[in-house]
Amino acid sequence: MARLQILELPEVFVGAASETPFVLVIDQWEPPPYPGEDGPHPYEGIAEKIGARAVLVFEETVEIPANDTTAYLESVAGCGATGPNFASPIAGRVEVRQPCPYCGDRQMIPRSQFTEHMARVHPEEDSPGA
Ligand SMILES: [Zn+2]
Repeated sequence: MARLQILELPEVFVGAASETPFVLVIDQWEPPPYPGEDGPHPYEGIAEKIGARAVLVFEETVEIPANDTTAYLESVAGCGATGPNFASPIAGRVEVRQPCPYCGDRQMIPRSQFTEHMARVHPEEDSPGA
């Protein structure tokens, strides 16, 4: 069965708006056994309909490194924890933050440091995240 993958392209800024253009990658595609002689390819016109820059179709298997989540999945499955595992191999690449409700600019504080932030910067407030 064919697989659908998204390949994100570099973000594009137009004024204050931004867009992440993408390419739809279809691999492991099996051509129909009796293709029509002059009919359009089954994926023709799909890019325009879904807003993709292009559709790439391969009969072979194509792996997109950016979409490889096996390290993350193995880490989540193996740790048995319900929260972040800061000892996992992906720690340091993923950091959970939450906004501080007392800092004027709603500064994003790493969750692992939130209690310390509240005690140090806002000792008069009850910590909402602790
Ligand atoms: Zn704060």
